[in-house]
Amino acid sequence: MIVTFFGSPGAGKGTQAELAAEAFGLYYFSTGEYFRREIREDTLLGREIRGIIEGGNFIADHLVNRVVFGVMDGLPDVLLDGYPRNVPQALSLDAFLDGQGRRMDLAVFLDVPEAEASERLAGRRQCVACGARASMKDETCVACGAELVQRSDDDPAVVHRRFLEYHRETRPLEEHYQDRLVMVDGLGTVEQVHRRVLKAMESWR
Ligand SMILES: [Zn+2]
Repeated sequence: MIVTFFGSPGAGKGTQAELAAEAFGLYYFSTGEYFRREIREDTLLGREIRGIIEGGNFIADHLVNRVVFGVMDGLPDVLLDGYPRNVPQALSLDAFLDGQGRRMDLAVFLDVPEAEASERLAGRRQCVACGARASMKDETCVACGAELVQRSDDDPAVVHRRFLEYHRETRPLEEHYQDRLVMVDGLGTVEQVHRRVLKAMESWR
């Protein structure tokens, strides 16, 4: 089963995608997490993309495609978080999967009003050392004890640009995947939304 999760910035997509992958035994792959780790570990790729991602811009499609196809090659069950993020990427992915006799089974779209999503992003923190997610109430990382910072792509000015990009680039994917699209209301607690996601995915399995 191949599933992709998409939603606006701050829709809780990362958290919900990870929970859903665990529930369905799918390999979880987040392009955002992957590239942030490359930056943190200061790899060659990380150095190349640091400025791009910190400025709230997006990495070139061909580069992202290469990373994702490398991960998906030979993996039967995958949940993609943050990919594809535009129609050209989706077309490349279709061609890649088609070449292996596979296809995207399901696209889950997490829907949260923009005002609510902005508020959530303002309170989001991340560990400088291990990259674990944290909330406003945590003082240090619960996983390793290191310092927490706001993610540079959650800065209000950057968030606004991410919303514009989202509407322009990602929303058209609803149409691309219209025959296998599931819309899930992203309002409520993590547990409430998770239950909705499971119910929606179950009906497609
Ligand atoms: Zn940590």
